[in-house]
Formats: sequence, structure tokens, C-alpha cells
Amino acid sequence: MDLMPFDELNKFREFVTAYKSEMYHTERERRQFRDDLEEYIEWLLIEAYSYGNVQARADLGLLDESRDYMNPDKIQAAIDKRVADKTAFERLAEYAEDDTSTVEDFQRVAETDATRVYNTAVLDTAEETKIPGIKKRWVTAEDDRVRDAHRWLDGVVVPLDAKFYVDGDSAYAPGGFSDPALNCNCRCEISLIRE
Ligand SMILES: [Zn+2]
Repeated sequence: MDLMPFDELNKFREFVTAYKSEMYHTERERRQFRDDLEEYIEWLLIEAYSYGNVQARADLGLLDESRDYMNPDKIQAAIDKRVADKTAFERLAEYAEDDTSTVEDFQRVAETDATRVYNTAVLDTAEETKIPGIKKRWVTAEDDRVRDAHRWLDGVVVPLDAKFYVDGDSAYAPGGFSDPALNCNCRCEISLIRE
């Protein structure tokens, strides 16, 4: 139950590492990097969404159906969602402007947003199926990097349209709290339960 091994995040890291390994960049190279970054994060988040969609259909026993329940408007909304008033790309673009930013800074944004979009896709897909009575379970990566607040939520089951509550905050899925400290670096997932 760990999103990190998915290959797109490793490719994203390689792409940023290659750029960051050079000490000096021309203005043209900087612009190119920024443009590539925008394409890369869009591609990464679309992949994350489709992973979430497949997982949701697997949880609900719908993998054999030809319908994929993907709603293009919802995909775009998940990718364009503003967190702390910035999209994932806008946050990455800030790091691109800043020469002191590290590969880990880029990776943290990519990982956190991929997790958020993955979980959004699970919820969106469940809604699109219109199956009544679906429940969702909070699942952590179950290692020592899991923060206490999320360890506390591990295994908690609520109805699809309900929120998870912890530390005075609430979220429909991992990555959806108001407090960024509860979202940043989160690798938790939602799994679905069909009655
Ligand atoms: Zn978490």
C-alpha cells in the first residue's frame, strides 16, 4: 500500500535531477525546464488519476466492465485543484525560479499531489458508479514514516460521502485536510468497500 514505487514518480525525479545537476543555466534552458515541468506534472497527475480509477473499480468488482467511469471534467478539476491557493504546477514553478530549491522539494510536491489526485480519483469513480452504500477505509503505508494523526485513522471506515476527523481537522480523503501539515508527504490511500 505505497504509492511511491509507481514509476512515473521515479521518472519525474530523474527529470528534475538531470536539470538540477548542472550548476548554471541559460535563460532559454530555464524557460524550457519550466515548460517541461508543466507537461510533466500534468502527465504525472493524469497517470495518478487513472491508477486511482483502476483501484476503485478493482475494489468494487467492476474491472471486467468495459465502462471506466472516468469523467473528464472531474479529472481536470483534480489536476487544477488549488491547495494553499496554488496549483501543483504553480508550486513547482516557484521552485523552478529558485536556484536554492532541491530535487527533494520538487519530489515532495509531486508525491503529495499525486497522492491527492489518486485518492480523488478513487472517490470520483465510486460516485460515478452510482452504487448505493459504498464505504471507504483509510489505509496508511504502515511504516515508521506514517504520522501519528494518520496512524490513528488507519483502518477507519466511513460512508463514501462522509469525512474523516482528526486533530480538529477533517478530510474526505488523504490530502484533503485544511492544514497543509496534515497533507504534506502523505502516502495514505482510500480503499472502497461494497456491501
Ligand atoms: Zn498519511
